[in-house]
Amino acid sequence: MTSANTAFSSAGSALTRRQALGRLGWAGALGLLASSAGLRAAEALAAPAAAPLGLAGQPGFYRFKIGALEALALNDGGFMVPFDQSPFAAGLADGPAQIAESLRAAFLSAARVQVPFNVLLVRLGSGWVLIDSGAGGAFGPAGGKLVAQLAAAGVRPEQIDAVLISHAHGDHIGGLLDPVSQQPVFKNATHYIGRREFEFWMGLSPDLGKLPLGAEAAKGLITGAQATLGALKGRWQLIGPGEKLIDGLEILETPGHTAGHLAFLISSGDDQLLHFVDAAHHHALTFAHPEWAFAYDAQPSVAVATRRALFDRAAADRLRLFGAHMPFPALGHVKSIGGGRYDYVLEPWAVG
Ligand SMILES: [Zn+2]
Repeated sequence: MTSANTAFSSAGSALTRRQALGRLGWAGALGLLASSAGLRAAEALAAPAAAPLGLAGQPGFYRFKIGALEALALNDGGFMVPFDQSPFAAGLADGPAQIAESLRAAFLSAARVQVPFNVLLVRLGSGWVLIDSGAGGAFGPAGGKLVAQLAAAGVRPEQIDAVLISHAHGDHIGGLLDPVSQQPVFKNATHYIGRREFEFWMGLSPDLGKLPLGAEAAKGLITGAQATLGALKGRWQLIGPGEKLIDGLEILETPGHTAGHLAFLISSGDDQLLHFVDAAHHHALTFAHPEWAFAYDAQPSVAVATRRALFDRAAADRLRLFGAHMPFPALGHVKSIGGGRYDYVLEPWAVG
């Protein structure tokens, strides 16, 4: 077996890395390591447990404009994962070595990969539109900081008029329900999700059984999605292909990470922002290696094609980008550097 496939052997488990990650989800996989792993994995996880992202005193919201529109980037938390247990370069025999090399080339720690959770709030028309909801309780203490960040920015959950869900993974829908009461957090908001995404997870599509993580792994993802989507039954407005919801917002079908994954193009005057959500998961790894499969991509080859198409469009049009897992405040641009590779260029934090 390759090192990539035996990365979870330190957990004393017969599971391959892919099986374990898939079965449990990221949070569950981390939980497995924390509870039963060997010393190496436990030590690797001790640091984020003691000092999670979103440290007290760290800024977790960032105001900016898209043309005339007010916008807020909000950090919901995030986690660090040991590089050789990360979901990047899935299926590559020398994946961990390539990940370490790419991290070093980007002047990042080669030991651990940082995965932030970011949420975008935009004032469109007369209402506040939230794009995704963060992890809520789905990732334990690693996530669920969205409501506190909103409060720090002076926005109450009941002031949110619409929530748009890009896809039904836990780090995007977990924040829709209060972890204690299981009641809707954004109780005055219309909840939107793509029809294809909703039907996929709710078992209305024959593709549900085709997730590449294997039946048991897929079951974990499906159970999580169905629990949250089902708890909000009756609130969902399903978005069809090309549907126009609000002036200034274009909804882009960007399948691959999930069957019905959506991206969002927000326009005001001459300014635009492309929120590509989970079409890419790391500002160095995924842009240097867009061809790498990500362990949670439902359709890896489709995800790669979607990612390249978005990168090419954004590079050609010099589009400003926002990404759910980019370094906070998650704004940047992409440029093509030839050979099918790209550079992500972080936007400087504005001082005034
Ligand atoms: Zn995500």
